[in-house]
Amino acid sequence: MDTTETTLDETILIRDVDRGSHYIRDWTGEADGNPSFVARPRSVAEVVDLVRYCAEKGLAIVPQGGHTGLVEGASARIEGGHVLVSLERMNRIRAIDPLNFSVEVEAGCVLEVLHQAVEAEDLMFPLSLGAKGSCQVGGNVATNAGGINVLRYGMMRDLVLGLEVVLPDGRVWNGLKTLRKDNTGYDLKQLFLGSEGTLGIVTAASLKLFPRPSSIETMFLAVASASDAIRLFAAARRHLADLLSAFELISDRSVELARTMPDISNPLGTGAPYYVLLEASSSGPLDLEALVGGFLEFAMEEEMVLDGVRASSVTQAQRIWAIREGVVEAQVKHGTYLRTDVSVPISQVAACIDEVEAALAETVADGVVLTYGHIGDGNMHFVVMPPRDMPEGPDRRNWIKASEAVIFEVVDRLGGSISAEHGIGRAKRSAFEKRASATQMDLLRTLKSGIDPANRMNPGAIFE
Ligand SMILES: Cc1cc2nc3c(=O)[nH]c(=O)nc-3n(C[C@H](O)[C@H](O)[C@H](O)COP(=O)(O)OP(=O)(O)OC[C@H]3O[C@@H](n4cnc5c(N)ncnc54)[C@H](O)[C@@H]3O)c2cc1C
Repeated sequence: MDTTETTLDETILIRDVDRGSHYIRDWTGEADGNPSFVARPRSVAEVVDLVRYCAEKGLAIVPQGGHTGLVEGASARIEGGHVLVSLERMNRIRAIDPLNFSVEVEAGCVLEVLHQAVEAEDLMFPLSLGAKGSCQVGGNVATNAGGINVLRYGMMRDLVLGLEVVLPDGRVWNGLKTLRKDNTGYDLKQLFLGSEGTLGIVTAASLKLFPRPSSIETMFLAVASASDAIRLFAAARRHLADLLSAFELISDRSVELARTMPDISNPLGTGAPYYVLLEASSSGPLDLEALVGGFLEFAMEEEMVLDGVRASSVTQAQRIWAIREGVVEAQVKHGTYLRTDVSVPISQVAACIDEVEAALAETVADGVVLTYGHIGDGNMHFVVMPPRDMPEGPDRRNWIKASEAVIFEVVDRLGGSISAEHGIGRAKRSAFEKRASATQMDLLRTLKSGIDPANRMNPGAIFE
């Protein structure tokens, strides 16, 4: 296969790809893939040229955003024959419309940069996650990202008004509408949400905006059990006039791990098996402080909460959020381990946590189990880390697989999902294929072959 003779603009290509670069190494630091070259287009026209070139040369395409996805979806195949297309240079905010509460932004815009740009207009884009400083809007679309505000604002799927996509044959689908209501046939944009780069390259999106909150109340509450945390969640929804925007559970063991990171401490003196990070926010003339005060009084009276602290400044709120973010950041220092991203109906969350923790305590008693997650969406991350002295290799991989089987068994039994937000990528493909019905697989393959008949877009991601 000839990939040196090219009609492409050489200034968008990196032919000698550094294996230590972020194109090859994902957020966890693991290196994967062996792309024929990396392309960094600057415009839709350059993406089109590239896609046509790849079609001519029989090259597959792996789109890449911030490379923070946790399921090996944006890594080129190790055996080569792939072109990695990084959207990082297509990062412009094309237009903000404050009256329509919408923004049109290119796919390579980093999520945090988008936050800052719309905040300057007194607006808010509510999708927010730990990787916000690196992940890109295109990656958020392609993974249908969730994060900390889903319970109030929904996932990326609920926040996208329109998309611009370069299709596998080089045609551009301009679906960049900014309408709240549009029932003209199939909602094509939704096909690309969660498609993980397998149907086309997202080059831009129009997104919903919201008024920027003028009051935010952040608290860190100790609870005696997962079941009390879920009772507290139901009470918060009712007592906080639907202004609840985040409800995160963090187990004591997870807080302990986070505390190994610089400047992170537990603001509560009382030890507890679990903690809840709760945030409510409002814009306009509403007494959120009084509302939250009433809710906390009720929660204490009903003995849902053992102890708690309410942030009295932005810095204190940031310190509370740093605990949640520290749980994730501290993990990657511990060699290979199991990360899961599962969901069950909210009413089954407590049962799921209790059963998974009990089953893991029996099966992999020598490991460290961390439980945390967006439990207001029924979404938990169970992380299982092998003992520190267990060497990398087949035994460690088997140990990790055994832990995963324990978790997935409970999740399946409770009617849950093995991937609540990270997607399938390559890491979860066999687990997904095992669970998908024949009809589901048939529909997926029909869609894929209709849009990408030559299987050129991110082959091997989601399903074979
Ligand atoms: C610390 C941390 C916290 C996280 N927290 C959350 C969380 O709370 N919620 C959550 O949902 N996820 C979370 N994630 C996972 C990850 O950040 C998200 O999946 C994010 O949306 C990925 O964006 P990215 O730009 O890094 O995409 P990448 O990792 O680069 O790519 C992900 C997938 O999207 C495809 N893709 C990327 N860009 C495009 C494009 N322009 N067109 C077509 N396909 C494309 C890739 O091929 C790949 O399949 C977290 C990750 C980390 C490291």
